[in-house]
Amino acid sequence: VKFVYDFTEGNKDLKDLLGGKGANLAEMTNLGLPVPPGFTITTEACKVYLDSGEEPAALRDEVSAHLAALEERMGKKLGQADNPLLVSVRSGAKFSMPGMMDTVLNIGLSDKSVQGLAQQAGDDRFAWDSYRRLIQMFGKTVLGVDGDLFEDALEKAKETKKVTDDTQLDAADLKKLVTRYKKIVKTEAGRDFPQDPREQMDLAIKAVFDSWNGDRAKLYRRQERIPHDLGTAVNVCSMVFGNLGPDSGTGVAFTRDPASGHQGVYGDYLQNAQGEDVVAGIRNTVPLAELERIDKKSYDQLMQIMETLENHYKDLCDIEFTIERGRLWMLQTRVGKRTAGAAFRIATQLVDQGLIDEAEALQRVTGAQLAQLMFPRFDEGAKVEQVGRGIAASPGAAVGKAVFDSYTAVKWSRSGEKVILVRRETNPDDLDGMIAAEGILTSRGGKTSHAAVVARGMGKTCVCGAEELEVDTKRRRMTVPGGHVVEEGDVISIDGSSGKVYLGEVPVVPSPVVEYFEGRMHAGADDADELVEAVHRIMAFADRKRRLRVRANADNAEDALRARRFGAQGIGLCRTEHMFLGDRRELVERLILADTEVEREDSLKELLPLQKRDFVELFEAMDGLPVTIRLLDPPLHEFLPDITELSVRVALAESRQEPHENELRLLQAVHRLHEQNPMLGLRGVRLGLVIPGLFTMQVRAIAEAAAERKAAKGDPRAEIMIPLVGTVQELEIVREEADRVVAEVEEATGTQLKLAIGTMIELPRAALTAGQIAEAAEFFSFGTNDLTQTVWGFSRDDVEASFFTAYLEKGIFGVSPFETIDKDGVGKLVRDAAKAGRETRPDLKLGVCGEHGGDPESVHFFHEVGLDYVSCSPFRIPVARLEAGRAAS
Ligand code: ADP
Ligand code: MG
Ligand code: MG
Repeated sequence: VKFVYDFTEGNKDLKDLLGGKGANLAEMTNLGLPVPPGFTITTEACKVYLDSGEEPAALRDEVSAHLAALEERMGKKLGQADNPLLVSVRSGAKFSMPGMMDTVLNIGLSDKSVQGLAQQAGDDRFAWDSYRRLIQMFGKTVLGVDGDLFEDALEKAKETKKVTDDTQLDAADLKKLVTRYKKIVKTEAGRDFPQDPREQMDLAIKAVFDSWNGDRAKLYRRQERIPHDLGTAVNVCSMVFGNLGPDSGTGVAFTRDPASGHQGVYGDYLQNAQGEDVVAGIRNTVPLAELERIDKKSYDQLMQIMETLENHYKDLCDIEFTIERGRLWMLQTRVGKRTAGAAFRIATQLVDQGLIDEAEALQRVTGAQLAQLMFPRFDEGAKVEQVGRGIAASPGAAVGKAVFDSYTAVKWSRSGEKVILVRRETNPDDLDGMIAAEGILTSRGGKTSHAAVVARGMGKTCVCGAEELEVDTKRRRMTVPGGHVVEEGDVISIDGSSGKVYLGEVPVVPSPVVEYFEGRMHAGADDADELVEAVHRIMAFADRKRRLRVRANADNAEDALRARRFGAQGIGLCRTEHMFLGDRRELVERLILADTEVEREDSLKELLPLQKRDFVELFEAMDGLPVTIRLLDPPLHEFLPDITELSVRVALAESRQEPHENELRLLQAVHRLHEQNPMLGLRGVRLGLVIPGLFTMQVRAIAEAAAERKAAKGDPRAEIMIPLVGTVQELEIVREEADRVVAEVEEATGTQLKLAIGTMIELPRAALTAGQIAEAAEFFSFGTNDLTQTVWGFSRDDVEASFFTAYLEKGIFGVSPFETIDKDGVGKLVRDAAKAGRETRPDLKLGVCGEHGGDPESVHFFHEVGLDYVSCSPFRIPVARLEAGRAAS
């Protein structure tokens, strides 16, 4: 194998081997852009080193050969005393990663060659400045010396000289600083700063390799789900100098505005500076446009190069460049990060420029970005008083009165107040308060803290780890920077998309993207929002491409209509239990308590027309589109009063010797139905099998509703879904009765109803015997919420708040399996069941309902497995449409 590639040998598609930086340096080199010559050591070499603890035997020779070629080309040798070649050693993995080793510049300088560099450049100051930078960077990143020690020494040198800028230090000052730096290295690292240039280079290369397994890098990879075995590449690049005086400098730029997508000149430039000075904020940079005045020739060339890069990468790029005495050098480029809104705009702009096609445009945006654009946000024009900033843990804009404990949050929200729960950090005891609050603010903890994980799961706005805020829960107050105290009850506003915290009420505006989906804002109108225009077009691309259909989980006509506006192609899950609550509860109670068949039938008869009316409305709202209705699923006791409350009532009545016959019967029923583990108890199809008449009543209501809609010239498309089936026998029994009822209704009304009957696949046994179950089912809908619970053996209601934080921190999951489908476990069952089902019944319709139906990564999985549709909450429908389109292109 070959471990070292010259910049002329690579290209942008070799990111796995050369890392992102190396691959793009090679690409620019081959485009003929001015890149200082150099070479890249591959990730393969790094892997060998990490596995065996030693660099591969061939590496040293290959590096020597490439170095020799570089020296030949540059006409000078690394560290050569009278005319040194200097290089930078730069890490560069496939994904850019915080925690990886920083770059070391100016490698090759020593006590001797610093003199040579001074002579060659005719500039003493420059040479000593470069040398002190080398010792500083090398000391910190390769030898592990605390960087503050160097910073402090530099500060002190400036103080002594009574200047504010490092550029005001002259050669003599810098020479003294070098002596000081060398002493720091000696005491802190226990060794001298290496004078041998090759040793400098080799040590730096090894330090890059080692940094792959640094704690911060490892943690970052776990959180971002980047595999640990990729390794990093190392780039050795000949130095060019931006610190050679006012005709030199360094800068960063974007080929277009990463916030709006507009073309123009965006970037920062710093004269007489090197490397990270621009971003480090050491001195004030000037806007890139100023470069036109400072150095017109370089500016024009830069503009030319940026255009070349955009046309070549067909995307927004960011770049790093350096100007050495009026000569421009390109040091890095990559496809640049952008805001969610800009991603949509840029994708359509590039289509209009003819640079990319629709399928490619879909790859340039994500469902997560679309979801972000759908949150309400704070009015940009509003006057605000920002008092802190934490981690943007869960998006949205929340306003409310600050409360400092869960109890108060619940109490106040019950009385109609909007509250923000403020805690140092949250724990499972805060759950009720989190549910009651508009948003959650903590002063500790990161993206995987309890607050962040739970808030994201609930879709609740959360800012966490706002460290400048001093939260004092005992005294129910928090102190913000500057000393202002926020007392319990003071209004604050938090922005979960930016992490910003404001005093007082900041006005919230609805997202223009939601206004568009709701039909309150139109694309193509004169005053249409640019963003809305872009979203409209991208959604059209997605709808043209996608194979998966998207349905909604909706239980009533109102939700159904909204879902339709958002693009739903039917209802994938209508939960009938919601139709049993409210004032119908009493009827259900009577049904459960019925002693005789007559009593039971009476209550069923009363429920029938109510259910029927619900369905008529639903079919009307979804006219012409499929509506999957799930028969009653949850355990019956959920419809009965709370056991403790009821016991108290009975005991009270008893002691007062009041009549309490009904309460007593109810209590007995509650006792009878009480289960240790109701989620694994009498629910779903089991209910239908033990409560005579319950399912048939529901089926009748559906059939009669459909017949009524038909009579009204409607086009109802009902699908009856049986929940929690574990074996085909259960389904067969229910089905037989259902078929009979449907036939009766057809006969009585003289209509052909063509109702489909199918089942949920949400128990492992159902998935494992899907081939048999398909004999009695016309469709499967994978209930991946229950399937995840039963496959993993944990209850969603409990675990998210208890041990999931620990699991996420330990990297056992990158993300909750309730959020993104666990492909290897739960997903495997889905895949196998889909296949087995279709073997039995080739036209079996396959869908999924449950949270995963609106999750981007899961949607891709369902596409790949070959399902017909996903079903999700109305608000997630655009995201599912987009991701289904992306999956298909
Ligand atoms: P990062 O991954 O942090 O961007 P880089 O490897 O790009 O690190 O280097 C950090 C800085 O050093 C950048 O500003 C880059 O422009 C500068 N730099 C790197 N190599 C050279 C070089 N050979 N000559 C001049 N400047 C360089
Ligand atoms: Mg860089
Ligand atoms: Mg279920």
